Amino acid sequence: QYFLKRIADLDPQLNSYITVSEQQALQQAAAADALIQSGQGSSLAGIPIAHKDLFCTQGTLTTCGSKMLNNFIPPYESTVTSRIQQAGAVMLGKTNMDEFAMGSSNENSFYGAVKNPWNTDTVPGGSSGGSAAAIAAGLAIAATGTDTGGSIRQPASFCGITGLKPTYGRVSRFGMIAYASSLDQGGPMAKSAEDCAHLLQAMAGFDEKDSTSSETATEDYIGNLNAPLTGLKIGLPKEYFGDGLDPKIADTIMAAVKEFEALGATVKEVSLPNLKLSIPSYYVIAPSEASSNLSRFDGVRFGHRCDDPKDLLDMYMRTRAEGFGEEVQKRIMVGTYALSEGYYDAYYLKAQKIRRLIKDDFTSALSEVDVIMGPVAPTTAFNIGSKTNDPVAMYLEDIYTLSVNLAGIPAMSVPAGFVDGMPVGLQIMGNYFAEAKLLNIAHQYQ
Ligand code: GLN
Repeated sequence: QYFLKRIADLDPQLNSYITVSEQQALQQAAAADALIQSGQGSSLAGIPIAHKDLFCTQGTLTTCGSKMLNNFIPPYESTVTSRIQQAGAVMLGKTNMDEFAMGSSNENSFYGAVKNPWNTDTVPGGSSGGSAAAIAAGLAIAATGTDTGGSIRQPASFCGITGLKPTYGRVSRFGMIAYASSLDQGGPMAKSAEDCAHLLQAMAGFDEKDSTSSETATEDYIGNLNAPLTGLKIGLPKEYFGDGLDPKIADTIMAAVKEFEALGATVKEVSLPNLKLSIPSYYVIAPSEASSNLSRFDGVRFGHRCDDPKDLLDMYMRTRAEGFGEEVQKRIMVGTYALSEGYYDAYYLKAQKIRRLIKDDFTSALSEVDVIMGPVAPTTAFNIGSKTNDPVAMYLEDIYTLSVNLAGIPAMSVPAGFVDGMPVGLQIMGNYFAEAKLLNIAHQYQ
């Protein structure tokens, strides 16, 4: 009731929710009370949580931030939301996001831009901006997000909260509306690493409904939080501290690194030489996969359908022209072009080869150190509207986050301080399946 009231009072200014499931939340809360009283509740029992609006929730509108799905009530539940629900959490509602998770500012939602609670003239980051803003403003204790190219970490950084993008395959993608299937990964967002650990404990693990779900055993994410950091080897990639990074952000990151040294860590320079290639390769691979995934939205089976189609082709064309926003249409065109005959080798195949180089960079750096640290984004939250006409400037926002997705490794954004009154996140990247280690490191710092 407390959170529902806060949402009603404050969300009109922030627009962080697309749907608030008031009745269902109160019913789930009553059920959780009963569970707790019987002594059976898990650590998530009764905890009010919001879900990014691309996790299918049975019986609850799931829009993916798009007009295309503004009438879509899924007949089934995603694995992530179902596991969190089984742990006894209460779903407050579904959070706003960039349409089909395409964006770095949450300005691409059909349901309007989300505002950053620290300064409502600025963006919350994207695409999981609704989840980040809701947590920062105290409109949910925690939330789910997804990270295809930074969409958990960058909004976490901009809104001063903690977010974890797990190893690709650690968290099931079943029931997550697909953007770029080889990169998409769901993960937890919350105020602290400890809260993220509780959420990940429920979310993570093999799922036979997702063919890329990993069978590697999960770890005790909560029990490992207090392990000492003595002897931890931190790598600082020299390419992360070059041109384009706001010097005040660099100072904030270096101050955080000093604190880790005080906790017993040692620091070493490492190199990720192909960093600059992550933007062009990601912005070929992600739109290519998106163009294929989004071909299912044809007006036939679900979602928006245009009025009075003349014939099948007219229905496809008008449905898609009306249902998809500008950024989504742009990506579909780029992706279709890159995959077309005669261009595939030059673009998609080439991008996949670069992807391998980027993965090799991480493998080699992580053979010398335990974790890599750096900034999450080159700037703090920018003003709403300031980059909408400059796609290149918008894509450059993703420079420190994309390569992690291309490699498939886990990474976190952890609040590290403020620059000119706006939050700055420290990024901690680890080796495959090192989620427990990352959460431990973040928890010791917090
Ligand atoms: N900004 C990136 C994009 O627009 C990342 C989005 C994401 O991680 N979902 O594709």
